[in-house]
Amino acid sequence: MNIILTNPRGFCAGVKRAILIVENALKVYKKTIYIRHELVHNQYVINTLRQKGVVFVEKIEQIPDYSVVIFSAHGVSKKVVQEAVKKKLIILDATCPLVEKVHIEVSKSSEKAIETILIGHRGHPEVEGTIGQYNNKNGKIYLVDSIEDVHNLSVQNSKKLNFFTQTTLSITNTKKIIAALKNKFPEISGPNKEDICYATTNRQIAVRQLSKIADIIFVIGSNNSSNSNRLAELGKETGTFTKLISSFLDIKKKWLKNVNYIGITAGASAPEILVTEVIQYLRKIGAHKPIEMIGVREKKIFKIPKKLLNIKTILDENG
Ligand code: SF4
Repeated sequence: MNIILTNPRGFCAGVKRAILIVENALKVYKKTIYIRHELVHNQYVINTLRQKGVVFVEKIEQIPDYSVVIFSAHGVSKKVVQEAVKKKLIILDATCPLVEKVHIEVSKSSEKAIETILIGHRGHPEVEGTIGQYNNKNGKIYLVDSIEDVHNLSVQNSKKLNFFTQTTLSITNTKKIIAALKNKFPEISGPNKEDICYATTNRQIAVRQLSKIADIIFVIGSNNSSNSNRLAELGKETGTFTKLISSFLDIKKKWLKNVNYIGITAGASAPEILVTEVIQYLRKIGAHKPIEMIGVREKKIFKIPKKLLNIKTILDENG
C-alpha cells in the first residue's frame, strides 16, 4: 500500500490566525476566555482549547458582563456585536479576513438598499453572520443554496441586484448556481471571481488531482466542517471511494482491501497531527513511507488584531 499526501492540506491562514488569537489571549488576559461558537469546525482543536480553560458558548447572553469574548473564524452578525457591546465585553474578533471582506460588501449593499443574494449553506454560522450584515428595511437579502432555490426566487428589482458567496463552497456547484442567477437576472452584479477563498480552492484542486491516482481518499476533518465536506463530496464525484474521517480511529480495515494507493487530504481546520496519526496507523498495517504530491505553495499570513500585540493595553484593560 502506498500513501499519497495532497498539497496543500490542513490549516489555512484564517484558521492559524484564529488559533493564534486565542493563544495570545490566554497568555495575557487574567480571566476566563469565552469563544462564541466553535472557533473553527474541528473537534480536536476545540478539545485542545477547552483543556486550556477556554469556555465555548453559542449565545452572548451566556457570557458574564465585562468578560473577554472571541468571535469564531466564521464571523458574526451585527446584532451579535451589539449584544457583546451592550454587555461591555472585551471583543477579540477571529473572523477570517476573507469572510470580513464579504461582510464589508454586504454592508455596502445594505446601506444602498440594494437587494442582495447570498449563495451559501442554510444554518452555517458564516452564512448567518454574513446575512446579519444586511439590516436595511428598504432592501432585502436572500439565501440560495441550489439551482432550485434560484428558480424559486423572486426579487423586487432585478435591475439592481448583487450576489455574494460563502467562502467554503464547492467551486463547480457555485459556478452552476452563479450561471443560473445570471441567466435569470442578466443585470445582477457580483464579484469577478466568486468569494470562495484561496484555501478552499487550492484544496479542491489538489483533491481532483489526487483522485486520478488514488484508489481511496481519506479527507481528515470534522463532520460539521464545510470545506472538509466539500472535499469529500468532490472525491466521491470523481468516482473515487472517499471517506471523511475525524481521526485514524474511523478507518475500517475492510476499506483497504485490494487498495494500492491511499490518498490523504485534510480540511482547512484539521491540524497536521491528525494526518500524522493516520500515516502512523497505515504504516503499522503495512503501508510504505508517504509520498508528498506537488501542489500550490500557500504563503498567505493574516495578522492578529493590533490590540493583542499591545500587551500593555491589555494589562490596563485587566486593571
Ligand atoms: S477556509 Fe478560507 S475563509 Fe475559511 S478561515 Fe480558511 S482562509 Fe478563511
